[in-house]
Amino acid sequence: MRSAGNVSIILCRVRCNTSRSRSTLIRIFQQAHVDLEQGPLEDQEKYFGHHECEVFSEEQQLATESENRWNNCEKNRGHENFFSVQYFRDNYLPKLQSDRDREVINTWIDCTVKLQVTCTSKDRPDNDPHAKDRGKIGCRYGTGFIKLVFSAVYDKPCLCAICKGKVAEKHWGFYVRTAGHVVFNTEEAKTTQVQLNYDDDSCEPKFGYGVDVVKFQPKRDWIDMWCVTCDQEIGAWIESIYCCWSDGDDQLKPPDLSALLPGCGEDCIPVLIASHPHGQPKKITLGEFRGRDRKNCRIEYSNPTCKGSSGAAVFVSDRRTRKFTHILWALPVHSRVIESRTAQKEHINCGHDGWLI
Ligand SMILES: [Zn+2]
Ligand SMILES: [Zn+2]
Repeated sequence: MRSAGNVSIILCRVRCNTSRSRSTLIRIFQQAHVDLEQGPLEDQEKYFGHHECEVFSEEQQLATESENRWNNCEKNRGHENFFSVQYFRDNYLPKLQSDRDREVINTWIDCTVKLQVTCTSKDRPDNDPHAKDRGKIGCRYGTGFIKLVFSAVYDKPCLCAICKGKVAEKHWGFYVRTAGHVVFNTEEAKTTQVQLNYDDDSCEPKFGYGVDVVKFQPKRDWIDMWCVTCDQEIGAWIESIYCCWSDGDDQLKPPDLSALLPGCGEDCIPVLIASHPHGQPKKITLGEFRGRDRKNCRIEYSNPTCKGSSGAAVFVSDRRTRKFTHILWALPVHSRVIESRTAQKEHINCGHDGWLI
């Protein structure tokens, strides 16, 4: 497992041991995003377009089929602009200006998780992208982002899929944000496996498990899912990542990613997406912000994505926000994409507008 970084671990140890009670709610990527709940929702229906979940039937062998779909992908043949985590860390992160910027992006990548959902609720509406699969047994891959981590709990039953509330094991709770068409409700959340730290195939699988949907924005197509893990190694690891960000006087400065895009001039706004295309190990794609549609609360970016990327958070590196003390990020990838504009030649994808400028 990649650690949170030497700097992170040192900071974490100091801070965790001195200044924070165990019950403190750890809140990291401060919610700079704006839900725009009061925002306009005109023309909602036409934005139900292509989703980017990777769906498998009950009979299909998941690992083999996932690899086949990666190898035979028509949308992004060869996936040449999808970087493995190691390649990105070796070849792109060194271009950033400071250790702190590298730490921010490393943590962003670490917080990206693969989701495997085995239920499609009968309560999904008729216009849902997965309506035809309602009630069927199968599997759906998407991506999520760890948004909050709670301190470890020692004396209560663990609700993970293994303990099932029967064992009072030390465990951690955390929130994962994803698209509502990836995980629709609590019924689906309870069948959701969260694979953490899936950076390459050599990684030992580490899991958390969905328990409940704690916040649901059906019209905005995103949810927050409460998850738990009693894997002691992974629990301590996710806690350490957050600990490093939340305590002390340091504030989270948005990193400048312009060095990652050749020829990125004054008007260029870099965008980074980490996701699990086709359910494969995590990949990083880079692109540019192409604009936004305030009326319909969405953004456009040029990053390539594939099935399995639905639900990934969108990191926008806007120079105008550098003075801010929190990370700005958009809501999940492919939340109600604009069907007619998912032109693959142009690599235009859309998601909700989730940040404030
Ligand atoms: Zn693909
Ligand atoms: Zn457990």
